[in-house]
Amino acid sequence: MHGRIDGAEPTKQAKALMPIRITAIRVAPLQGESPQGGWSHEIDEKDSVHALIAIHTDAGISGYGSAFTNGRLVEAAAGVLEPLLIGENALEPDRVSEKLHQNTFWMGRGGSLTHAISGIDIALWDILGKATGLSVGRLLGGRYRDRAKPYCSLLMDRPERMAEVIAPHYEQGFRAFKIGWGPFGRRDSAKLDEAIVRAARDAIGDDAHLFVDAGASDAFWPNGLKWALNTAQMLKDYGVGWFEEPLKPDAIDDFIALRRASPVAIAGGEVLTRRQSYTPWLVRGAFDIVQPDVTKVGGLSEQRRIAWMAQEFGVRYVGHGWNTALGLAADLQLAAAISDCDLVEYIGGSAYVDRLTRAPFSLDADGCLAIPDLPGLGIELDPDHVARYTPDAKRFFAG
Ligand SMILES: [Mg+2]
Repeated sequence: MHGRIDGAEPTKQAKALMPIRITAIRVAPLQGESPQGGWSHEIDEKDSVHALIAIHTDAGISGYGSAFTNGRLVEAAAGVLEPLLIGENALEPDRVSEKLHQNTFWMGRGGSLTHAISGIDIALWDILGKATGLSVGRLLGGRYRDRAKPYCSLLMDRPERMAEVIAPHYEQGFRAFKIGWGPFGRRDSAKLDEAIVRAARDAIGDDAHLFVDAGASDAFWPNGLKWALNTAQMLKDYGVGWFEEPLKPDAIDDFIALRRASPVAIAGGEVLTRRQSYTPWLVRGAFDIVQPDVTKVGGLSEQRRIAWMAQEFGVRYVGHGWNTALGLAADLQLAAAISDCDLVEYIGGSAYVDRLTRAPFSLDADGCLAIPDLPGLGIELDPDHVARYTPDAKRFFAG
C-alpha cells in the first residue's frame, strides 16, 4: 500500500523520505546593519526590510530561508500561516508552498504573505536537502555547473566617487558589477548619467561585466520611454550587458517597445511576485532577461517555474535574491539547476550577506563563487553572528 512489503524494514534511503513533521516557524527580523537600498526614503531600523525564517521539525532537522520585506510583516504572516504549516510534511516544499498560496489568496496574495511564503519555501528545500543528504541544486533537477559569477551590486554616486565605490570590491575579486539607483536618471541630466557609467567602466576596465539598473520602481520615477531609449543607446557605448528596470514596473507596453528598439538587453521583473504575474511579460516579449527575487516571488518552487517558463520564450533568467546570505545561497542552488544561468546578484558590503554564516563566501581567481554541493542550501548560519542583528536569536534557532 505504501510501496513496501509488509514486515520488511525500509531502506535507509526510504527512511530518509518518510514524512517529518513541521513543529515550528520562527522569524528573525534583521536590524542594525541594513544595506542602503537606494530608495528615496530612509528606512528606519525597526522597519528593516530583511527577515530570516526558520522551520523546525520533529526529526531535529531545521531549515532556513529569507524573506525580503519588513520584518514585522513577516512575523504577522508567520502567525497567519502557522496553522496551515504545523504538522505538515517538511519534505514536500513544492506542495506545501502551493497549499499556502492557495489557502491565502483572499488575504493579499502577491504581497507580504507571498514574500513570507518565499522564506518558508526556501527553508523547506533546505530541510529536504539535509534529510536526503543532497544539495538543493541536485534536488531541483541536477547541477549544470559547480560555480557561478556573482555580480557585485553597488549604488551609483557622483561620477568622481565611482572609482572609490568600486575599488574595494574589485580588490576583493569581483569581475562583474551592477551599478544602480542613486542620482542616475533622477537629475534630468543625460550628461551626468553618462559620466557615472563612464567612471564605472574606467574603474573596472574593459574585461569586467558592467550592468546598469535605473531602479525605476523607485517612488515617483520621473522618466518614460524616450529617456529609456536614449539612455540605452548611451549604455551600448560602454559595453553595458543589460539595462535593468529602465521603466516604471507596470509599463508593459513601453517595455515591449523598448526591448524591440534597444541595442542593450532589457532586464526587469524584480517587483513581480507569483509565477502567474510573469506570464503576460513573457508572452508579450517585454524582457530579454527576467529577474524574479527568490525571497519575494514565492521561493525556489516558484522561481524554478518562472526560470523554466522564461527558457521556453528565449528569455534569460537571472536571480535577484541578493538581500541575505540565504537568498544568495538559494540563487546559487537554482543557478546550478538552470541550464543557461551562470550569474547571481551579490550586494556589495552587506553584513547580512557577508557576516551571518560560519564560512564567508569567497571568490576564486575568476571572480566566481563555488556552488555548494553539500546537503541543503550548503551554508550554515552562525547563531552568534545572527544574534548581533536580531532581538531573539535564541528562540529563532531553538524552535
Ligand atoms: Mg534592480
